[in-house]
Amino acid sequence: MHPLASGQHPGAQRRRIGDAVVTALADGYLDLGPQTVPATDWNDLVPLLDTPFATADAYRSSINAFLVETGGRRILIDAGGAQSGIGSLGRLGSTLAAIGIGPETVDALLITHLHPDHAGGAFDETGAATFERAEMILHTGEHAHWHDDTLVTDANRGYVELARKAVVAYAREGRLTLFDSDSEVAPGLFAEFLPGHTPGHTGYRIESGNDALLIWGDIVHIPPVQMKRPEIGIAFDSDGAQAEVTRRRILERAVTERLKIAGMHMPWPGIGHVERDGTGYRFVTAPHDYGTGHP
Ligand SMILES: [Zn+2]
Repeated sequence: MHPLASGQHPGAQRRRIGDAVVTALADGYLDLGPQTVPATDWNDLVPLLDTPFATADAYRSSINAFLVETGGRRILIDAGGAQSGIGSLGRLGSTLAAIGIGPETVDALLITHLHPDHAGGAFDETGAATFERAEMILHTGEHAHWHDDTLVTDANRGYVELARKAVVAYAREGRLTLFDSDSEVAPGLFAEFLPGHTPGHTGYRIESGNDALLIWGDIVHIPPVQMKRPEIGIAFDSDGAQAEVTRRRILERAVTERLKIAGMHMPWPGIGHVERDGTGYRFVTAPHDYGTGHP
């Protein structure tokens, strides 16, 4: 049993969800430009970027992970991209240290999918598990996809190798658990299968008291564009048509259920609501949480 942490840090923003505490962790960013939406004319999207004072060459997309403290357990959802080779990623480890969360105190590592910006922080430069006691929890379809040799190409070999390194760091010590349907994967944490971006892409819903939060992984990567125009996919989608079906379903559900959502590529700290906007949607960031223990 770990006591609940409190207070704020620039790269770690906490929020209560019922009796649970969810801490958004900033791992870094990716600049996503025209090459990431190849089927669409970038010039048509620039007016949607919603950043009139930023460069129009690319959208700076946040890379977030989330630590959930519930029932005396510490559960990390995704691990950032420290070993991805992308220099703008990899801040999660130092942030956890700064807020006093030792990697050995993380009980479980839930993975939304095995892309480098999500699984690249699960192991260190020696290939050892970053979180030395944690159980890695992952969708069966995601595990199968990245371990299918028939799907390896020169183009995706780097992604495959990273995914396998992340998994084996836990599997070789008997700390890998796979699930294959929507289920409670940790106390108060429910897996939701959201396929398309990858075959096993999964969101995790936290329920505590009367509150809930759906951490939806990579439903969108360029939020102002893909929420306003949900038909627009991203080059990293393994099945663009399926990703669009999933994206539209979750966006609509978030509106009708007034569901609080969090995303790995939503603007830092990545937590808020979805509002209808014409034929599309828009993100409404949650107000800053000043924490408890202060008047
Ligand atoms: Zn991602």
